[in-house]
Amino acid sequence: MKKRLLILGGTGDAAELAARASQIAYLEVISSLAGRTKQPLTPKTGTVRIGGFGGATGLAEFLRCSPIDLLIDATHPFAAQISANAAVAAAECNVPHLMLVRPAWEAVEGDRWIEVANHSEAAKALSGKFRRVFLTIGRQELAEFAGLEGVWCLMRAIDPPAPNTPIPHGELLLSRGPFSLADERQLLLEYRIDTIVSKNSGGAATYAKIIAARELGIPVVMVQRAPMPDVERVADVTGAISWLIQKFGNGLCNGCNG
Ligand code: NAP
Repeated sequence: MKKRLLILGGTGDAAELAARASQIAYLEVISSLAGRTKQPLTPKTGTVRIGGFGGATGLAEFLRCSPIDLLIDATHPFAAQISANAAVAAAECNVPHLMLVRPAWEAVEGDRWIEVANHSEAAKALSGKFRRVFLTIGRQELAEFAGLEGVWCLMRAIDPPAPNTPIPHGELLLSRGPFSLADERQLLLEYRIDTIVSKNSGGAATYAKIIAARELGIPVVMVQRAPMPDVERVADVTGAISWLIQKFGNGLCNGCNG
């Protein structure tokens, strides 16, 4: 009898995990996406379900009814709500639960970071100090920056903000990473950017802008992560595969080790 693994996704790591976990013969993999982006990072293996569960209660019901044997939360480090719901639902249903969380970036020599706790603090940090800002925070928090006076923003997101969302004065750039260092450097120079606002997402796909900022001496307003649920955690897909193998052995793992 196969064990059913639910992966909460929406990240490159989650898609890679789905592909590798599907190679473990005793696992049936279900990936879940929120359904926000028009062209999501849909895993190419296993089953994919799309849309919210209806809070922690709805997720607990899904875990019981499916039924799910293992849960891996591989959502983005800033997707705090679904991670909190997952912790509550998994504990309630007694389902083994792991978080796959990429380590946060850490400032190195030459970085000029202004670390803030949230997007509202980031907007305050810009006020009166910077004039040409590269907002690389996606589209959901743009409204926090809408009231800034005398600031022009280059806003990069995968999809446009919802209609009627207040957004700052500036230009919207629709694109999805990974971004190369040469392109990021070029963008900063072309738009005469004097500061960047970034989530501390971690990972390689969006790190080039941080290197480009370091090279050009541009400050980065770095939004820190909110506290995460106190559950077992690994830093990468290989760690998550080891956790799965530890739980049930590596029965016919055909290439899952990468
Ligand atoms: P969030 O604020 O933590 O979650 C809001 C609600 O969206 C949840 O309560 C849940 O609805 C639903 N949801 C979120 N992720 C889901 C998933 N994987 N499967 C099913 N439902 C999900 O989430 P978010 O920050 O809006 O992120 C949404 C998705 O985008 C996540 O999959 C995340 O990995 C991805 N993403 C987020 C960011 C970011 O910066 N936040 C960046 C890149 C990718 P119900 O309560 O109805 O279950």
